[in-house]
Amino acid sequence: TLVAAAREGELAEATVTGRAEPWPNDPYPAGSGVQDRYASLRALLAGRISAESVVATLEASGLRGMGGAGFPTGRKWGLVAATEPGGVKYAICNADESEPGTFKDRQILTDQPHLVIEGLLLGMAVVGAEQGWIFIRHEYGPEERVLHAEIEALREAGVIGENACGSGRRLDLDIFVSPGGYILGEETALLECMEGHRGEPRNKPPFPGNYGLHGRPTLINSVETFADVPVILQRGAEWWAEQGEGDSVGWKFFAVSGHVANPGVYCVPMGTTVRALIDLAGGVPGGARVGAVQPGGASSNFIGPDKLDLPLDFGTLAEAGTMLGSGALVVLAEGTDLLAAATNVLRFFRNESCGKCVPCRVGSTKAHEVLRGVLDSGSATLDDAQQGRILQLEETMRKTSICGLGQVALGPVVSVLGLNKGAAAARPQPRPEGSKEQPDR
Ligand code: NAD
Ligand code: SF4
Repeated sequence: TLVAAAREGELAEATVTGRAEPWPNDPYPAGSGVQDRYASLRALLAGRISAESVVATLEASGLRGMGGAGFPTGRKWGLVAATEPGGVKYAICNADESEPGTFKDRQILTDQPHLVIEGLLLGMAVVGAEQGWIFIRHEYGPEERVLHAEIEALREAGVIGENACGSGRRLDLDIFVSPGGYILGEETALLECMEGHRGEPRNKPPFPGNYGLHGRPTLINSVETFADVPVILQRGAEWWAEQGEGDSVGWKFFAVSGHVANPGVYCVPMGTTVRALIDLAGGVPGGARVGAVQPGGASSNFIGPDKLDLPLDFGTLAEAGTMLGSGALVVLAEGTDLLAAATNVLRFFRNESCGKCVPCRVGSTKAHEVLRGVLDSGSATLDDAQQGRILQLEETMRKTSICGLGQVALGPVVSVLGLNKGAAAARPQPRPEGSKEQPDR
């Protein structure tokens, strides 16, 4: 599919992976309209299934949050449902996908807006919210238009509105376009932004499920998590569990980029190995070997070529010292300057730090200065003093930063300190094709 990203001409034509066939997870036949879809929502609103059974099915399915942290979805829905029953509540789909290398939600929004929206509406109905929001990244103009069209079709068909599906219940949706800034994808900064405040993370707890938008209990899940819900309700928790490889459950979308022949979005069984996913993306061009991989976006630690047979799942990656994160596999070919790549990641976090807390604001700047100095001197490695400084900054930021950005900003750098030995003997090294260095500032 070629999406004409004509948002006032600010984006050129953006290419997203074409799909002749529906994605393998979709329970609805290709070409279905609003009337043929939203089956689980209709069943819930008609009382054919209960809110409790939805929560129980999600718990049985083992679905975990796909935004990165992997919090059990059924548990979250149950907690929000049980908080202040009968009071005003909200539900928000976090579509502020902004992690470098992360573009899977964009594909899901384009190809499966019906699943994302049905999941959000189910969440609203289960927790007792009348108003739902999709908080979308401001560069996602084409996806925003897709969502608008789907919401309008739902309103016209009476699926949402004052009398959703004839149930007598009000369920309504709106889109909130992010004013920009990576940190707004952090759920509490997102809430501050929606309330009209400066977009800085809050201290947690309280979590949004207890104290969310305007202080009310708020269900927040990511695009992929919401999209998985109607799949599981339609096909069953057992079916979902069977889709994964080994002990893993369900389907998982990955954005694959870097040194691969066919970068793009892939939907594979959870538990697929790193190697199999790289092969699916055409392998490293020119038959070169893999030098390192970031399996979960810019926040995740690099792993070396000895870990290619790791199954991609929350637990296995955590045990290997990295994470599933935002579902973005970045592949670097052997010979790539890993220290330069990790410093580039740190520069992104330094630039995007909201500045609210000192460890992140000052620590990311100081660490970047150290690393920039090393790279500018032409050295491939840090001396003991430089390494000690980086490790100290990493520990301080990890333990004392308010939010995930500061906590993980130096993780990728520390992970390459070991991997980088022996690599990058000669600089400059070629950058991954198509990659651009962020302008320094
Ligand atoms: P977190 O662990 O604080 O929370 C995860 C989710 O579970 C949140 O919704 C939180 O409200 C909820 N939660 C946690 N404990 C709870 C409790 N006791 N009771 C009720 N709810 C609870 O993680 P986070 O800081 O929200 O997210 C960090 C993740 O985001 C990282 O793993 C990172 O990979 C990912 N990330 C994703 C992107 C992206 O573009 N998709 C960008 C940056 C980071
Ligand atoms: Fe802001 Fe960084 Fe602190 Fe997060 S860790 S609140 S991004 S300064």
